[in-house]
Amino acid sequence: MVATDPLVRTVERGDTRAMRSRTFGPLDNPVVLLGQGTWNMERDDRSAAIAALRAGIDAGMTHIDTAELYGAGQVEMLVREAIDGRRDELFLVSKVLPSNASRRGTMTACERSLARLGIERLDLYLLHWPGSYPLGETIEAFEELQAAGKIGAWGVSNFAVDEMEEALAISGPGRIACNQVLYHLQERSIEHGVVPWCAAHDVAVVAYSPFGSGSFPSSRSAAGAVLASIARARDATPYQIALAFLTREAHVFAIPKAARPDHVTQNAAACEIVLDAAEIAALDRAFPRGPKRRGVATI
Ligand code: NAP
Repeated sequence: MVATDPLVRTVERGDTRAMRSRTFGPLDNPVVLLGQGTWNMERDDRSAAIAALRAGIDAGMTHIDTAELYGAGQVEMLVREAIDGRRDELFLVSKVLPSNASRRGTMTACERSLARLGIERLDLYLLHWPGSYPLGETIEAFEELQAAGKIGAWGVSNFAVDEMEEALAISGPGRIACNQVLYHLQERSIEHGVVPWCAAHDVAVVAYSPFGSGSFPSSRSAAGAVLASIARARDATPYQIALAFLTREAHVFAIPKAARPDHVTQNAAACEIVLDAAEIAALDRAFPRGPKRRGVATI
């Protein structure tokens, strides 16, 4: 793992604050380092969640990740309200359920997501996890959707290296934009295979559940104390240090979810933190990568 980040650059977008962006797989335009997750947002106070998403956009977190799965479509409708009038500033991502991922099913699922989001085009469309429909059918639909201008690019989620190999063999190089996978301080197993594979094949890695989906290391644990001391020394929070650690490689992005505006602005500010080699080594010791596993870990 290296701490250097040669592809990082800063962009200004509309009314939003500047946020570090980096090359996203084969895409022409850079994407912000830190985006916003929306899983389970239908359970949050609706107006607070909408305010949080808007605060995130204002703070530069213009990558918004949603899925037809989330709240059975309710979250896409909540996102529609949050992004009203701001569509052009955003990198909007949704996902097709594997049970809908036949060729025809993918096309119609995409149309439904577009309608719920109130937009003409998704920037990125993902297969949520590998399913039973032949992958070639899903990819064929993705390519058709892209040719028709309904999506800007496509990618996958929860794919292990052998599944990435299969996707690459079907699509050819330069087509798969990203693999969105579980990645947090206590679950680093993608570093054994998925992270290097994606770097070698020009595919972005998007870290989902970067805070362990709510089970964040306590500062009372030995590892949590290391994290807390690095945070203190930088006048940052442990959550911000976690995001900086996870995005230390030049092709890795993260999409924390926060329904509280203060959490969102804190998360956005983490993009300014670039950890040095000693801090990375200390975190690496405190939260070891652990053994290789078959497939990928999922939430
Ligand atoms: P997460 O981002 O790991 O953690 C979210 C939790 O952390 C929430 O309870 C949130 O609280 C809290 N939090 C956020 N910022 C904080 C801060 N600065 N300080 C303290 N607490 C903070 O959880 P996640 O939702 O599982 O993962 C993020 C996103 O990844 C999802 O929302 C979804 O978009 C995506 N995802 C994708 C998959 C997939 O299969 N592709 C699977 C899971 C998740 P509040 O909400 O109260 O602010």
